[in-house]
Amino acid sequence: MKTLLFTKELEDLKTEALVVGFYESFGNSDIDKYDVISDGLVNEVIKSKEFTGKFGKVLMLRLKGKLKRLVLVGLGKREEFGLDKAREISGKAAVYVRDQGIGEFSIVLFEDINPYDAAYCVVEGVKLSLYQFNDFKTQGLDDIKKVDQFTLVANGNNFVEIDNAIRKALVITDAVYYVRDLQNKPSNVVTPSYLAEEAKRIAARFKFKCTVLETKDMKKLGMGGMLAVSRGSDHLPKFIIFEYNGGKETFCFVGKGITFDSGGISLKPSQDMDDMKFDMSGGAVIFGLMIAVSQLKLPYRVVGLVPATENLPGGNAYKPGDIIKFHNGKTAEIINTDAEGRLVLGDALAYSKRFNPNAVIDFATLTGACVVSLGNLYAGLFSNSDEFSSKLVKAGENSGELIWRMPLHDKYKEHVKSNVADIKNSGSRDAGAITAAVFLKEFVECKKWAHIDIAGTAYTKNNKDVLSPYGGTGFGVRLIMKLLEDWKTK
Ligand SMILES: [Zn+2]
Repeated sequence: MKTLLFTKELEDLKTEALVVGFYESFGNSDIDKYDVISDGLVNEVIKSKEFTGKFGKVLMLRLKGKLKRLVLVGLGKREEFGLDKAREISGKAAVYVRDQGIGEFSIVLFEDINPYDAAYCVVEGVKLSLYQFNDFKTQGLDDIKKVDQFTLVANGNNFVEIDNAIRKALVITDAVYYVRDLQNKPSNVVTPSYLAEEAKRIAARFKFKCTVLETKDMKKLGMGGMLAVSRGSDHLPKFIIFEYNGGKETFCFVGKGITFDSGGISLKPSQDMDDMKFDMSGGAVIFGLMIAVSQLKLPYRVVGLVPATENLPGGNAYKPGDIIKFHNGKTAEIINTDAEGRLVLGDALAYSKRFNPNAVIDFATLTGACVVSLGNLYAGLFSNSDEFSSKLVKAGENSGELIWRMPLHDKYKEHVKSNVADIKNSGSRDAGAITAAVFLKEFVECKKWAHIDIAGTAYTKNNKDVLSPYGGTGFGVRLIMKLLEDWKTK
């Protein structure tokens, strides 16, 4: 989709549909302008209450002039309008226009928010909501409705600022599209080797470093978690290492890359097992972050680690009762082979130490317990630093990717105490999301560490959130890009 900025007079705008937002109070100064453009239709539908300005309401008016359609969208109460609503209403308008079969439209920039943020949110809302994944369809392709071009209409003197916002939003939403595509592709395509090849491809294209560790390297490094989990699959494990050097301060991002999780010998029930192709979502986020960070040339060193493997119950699979040894020398007793994410992350978090990072964040579709706690709205945040946590929570609120901090008290360690090894990989059902985090903490030495459990937010099968159509959501990219953007401000 082409995205343009239009800064001239409205009379000169050529568009199939012009989207304009109105508050419930109809206090917009421009209302008369649109009434004139529409030959009195705007005031007519307001008077008849066909259009009330209530948040989320959309009404399309057919016009006779050069401008073919005016799409009125309700912004709700002026005092309640903010970045979240700007994003959401832009998405709703875009989906509405697309569903009418209109392939090109324009949106007038919302008032009352600073122009940079407004432009950023409109582009974000439009792009995120119009995402589609049709790579594997061979039929009905002609019936798929798409938008090819979208124009942001702005007046005032902030064109440079607005243009910057558009460009930045496009880079980040393109990265989200990339992550969603990777998530949505099935596990018979996205194998550990596929991820490794793709990692090398994006590293060459976007100019950062990429190294892939093979089984023999993992053996040398004593990565017992990776080796154990991968044993039940014919696909060999790959440990992907990205490195972008834009500065000294080092961020290390780690993402769980289980390309399919059957549960292993502790086999999952069949119901919804197809969702387990999404168990590499954390890893996919790291790919997207590397692309966005390198394109925006952020002044940091960014290391991305993706331990990639399948978890299958093959003849050589690891078993409950096994004891394994990790890269940092610690041992764990396997209670449940479906608690495999923490095993590969254990090795990856231990490996992150060699980069001497200032902060480490891991993303993982780790526990069903986290979904029970927080549903699909918030991801779970676990951290060893209050200050770092508040920065992350704030970045979540500002980016629209919400995270909620959960406890990580030392006493929870009781849950993962083993009689025969240093720790065990699964406790009782109680506090399942927390005990997983407590397990990960055993592998972390960095003073600023956060574990983000995205089991509930990584993908969706309903259309409750207009910004996240069916499938992978790419959750995490916008959150971290916001964190990095605001990192140096207090
Ligand atoms: Zn599992």
